[in-house]
Amino acid sequence: MLEVTDLRTHFFTFGGARVVKAVDGVSFRLREGETLGLVGESGSGKTTTCMSIVGLLPRAGRVVGGSVLFEGEDLTRKSQRELRRIRGRRIAMILQDPMASLNPLFTIFRQVAEPAFFHQHLRGRTLRERVRHLLESVRIPSPEWRMRDYPHQMSGGMRQRIVGAIALAGGPRLVIADEPTTNLDVTIQAQYLDLLKDIQRETGVALIFVTHNLGIVAKMCDRVAVMYAGKIIEQGPVRALFDDPKHPYTRALLGSVPKLGSKEPLYAIAGQPPNLADLPSGCAFHPRCPEAVPRCATEEPGDVHLAGGRVARCWLVSDGLTRS
Ligand code: SF4
Repeated sequence: MLEVTDLRTHFFTFGGARVVKAVDGVSFRLREGETLGLVGESGSGKTTTCMSIVGLLPRAGRVVGGSVLFEGEDLTRKSQRELRRIRGRRIAMILQDPMASLNPLFTIFRQVAEPAFFHQHLRGRTLRERVRHLLESVRIPSPEWRMRDYPHQMSGGMRQRIVGAIALAGGPRLVIADEPTTNLDVTIQAQYLDLLKDIQRETGVALIFVTHNLGIVAKMCDRVAVMYAGKIIEQGPVRALFDDPKHPYTRALLGSVPKLGSKEPLYAIAGQPPNLADLPSGCAFHPRCPEAVPRCATEEPGDVHLAGGRVARCWLVSDGLTRS
């Protein structure tokens, strides 16, 4: 369904004098009905990758290379007008902050109805029925009544479910969810994730799930791609990657997840993520990597394709020295 190949998105600041390589050679595939987790620290390029796919980059950002094949069409070659038709109908987004996605001045009915009105050309009673059904599918109680409400009359969890209903209203084939549960408390978060899974089972929609929460990846995703400094440094099926991470950064990320009942101090990855406008030479992770070897500081490793659909980008992997 989606094939991203060598995607490069740069930001040009100070009149182009400074170039920030926010996404630098990202490749992955997504099948129909599959869920891919995109994980990494803040600033690793997860959100910019998603915004590049749907053509929603800020003014300073530009896709400078690579391709995004979605159902056979390269989205990087589409005009903004063509992308607008694709967004909402074939690809939908769920953003972190539901209040930023909802218009406080319009009723829930109007906001959920809009994509179905424009993309599916529904009108009158059919449109109303569709909105009622969508609200029901995201577990909004008494949908007939609640569709007359405004966003401020709903709780945070309900608002996020409304955003889910809007995303589904155009009948998309792919939903990109960017940290959709960050602002929800833990119990509401779990209910929302269950709901997304149910919807996916019912509709067969594919999902890209952007998160820094590895617990959510384990619960939600089939495959996971770990990003660092604008690159995917490891990807593969979730279970295999969690059981046997090949890349030192993935190992460090997994090691920093709190374990219930453990008395061990929490492991923290040393140092800070790099400045994307001034990346270290060689492997961008080398100043923080506890397993670095001399060549890491001077030569950049490439992708190594492993059995089971796994890919890792590290000299230890290409030299067969990685530990489990
Ligand atoms: Fe660490 Fe070197 Fe592998 Fe980079 S290439 S992750 S620095 S061992």
